[in-house]
Amino acid sequence: MRERFNRVLEDVINQHQELNERIDGFFHKDLLEKLNRISSYVGGLPQRRKLSSRRDDPDWFQGINERIQTKEEALRARAQSRMRNYLRDARNQTRGDPAALQVHARLLNAFGALQDMLRRDDYQGHLFDRKELESLCDEEGTFACQGRFDLEECSYGEGHVINPYDNRESLLLFQNWNLDHGIERSRTVVPGLVAAIVKGGRRNVNMEYFYALLFTTENLRLVHTVCHEKGHHRRGLDPDEIYL
Ligand SMILES: [Zn+2]
Ligand SMILES: [Zn+2]
Repeated sequence: MRERFNRVLEDVINQHQELNERIDGFFHKDLLEKLNRISSYVGGLPQRRKLSSRRDDPDWFQGINERIQTKEEALRARAQSRMRNYLRDARNQTRGDPAALQVHARLLNAFGALQDMLRRDDYQGHLFDRKELESLCDEEGTFACQGRFDLEECSYGEGHVINPYDNRESLLLFQNWNLDHGIERSRTVVPGLVAAIVKGGRRNVNMEYFYALLFTTENLRLVHTVCHEKGHHRRGLDPDEIYL
């Protein structure tokens, strides 16, 4: 029964992620409905957040790489993999871009610099690690939705709270929470970086600025899917920050 439920949960989440970028129609609403029902079911499951090691809570670690022995490490790896994906997507996005081709070598350097900064900051793993001071959760591992990018806060209260340290299902649901870029990554930041290099001449591009926009909480908010605005955010780069 539980296995079946988890498969359904996985299905719904996958479908939802696929649809995320594309539509808002009827289908999507139906999926959100399912997601809501799943969330309330998961909310009622046993909370094993006090446990951390694979030995103490083996169920939580099902399907997770054997090398990972604590929940903190596992969540850390989740944050890091999101960052790796952002970098990979940014690189891929510039591949077909004719403007990027003209400045190919300088763009490669820029991506190299971003990667170095990510290494310096351990790929922002602290964001999901409850042992870290700079984590987005509290010391028990509870994350609260930070609200739509253009609002002060989330108005859904307890409805938009999750603790992926509790059980496997919560961890699964947590995948569906987004790190939303206030200044949009693919619409604004990446094209902005290419443009900065193209128009830069002898000026040095402020890579720390672009790094902050792509990978740090200066521009990222953790949001429940309902608080993730998929339309244009219409926020531009700060022209004073682009060059050193
Ligand atoms: Zn919310
Ligand atoms: Zn967004």
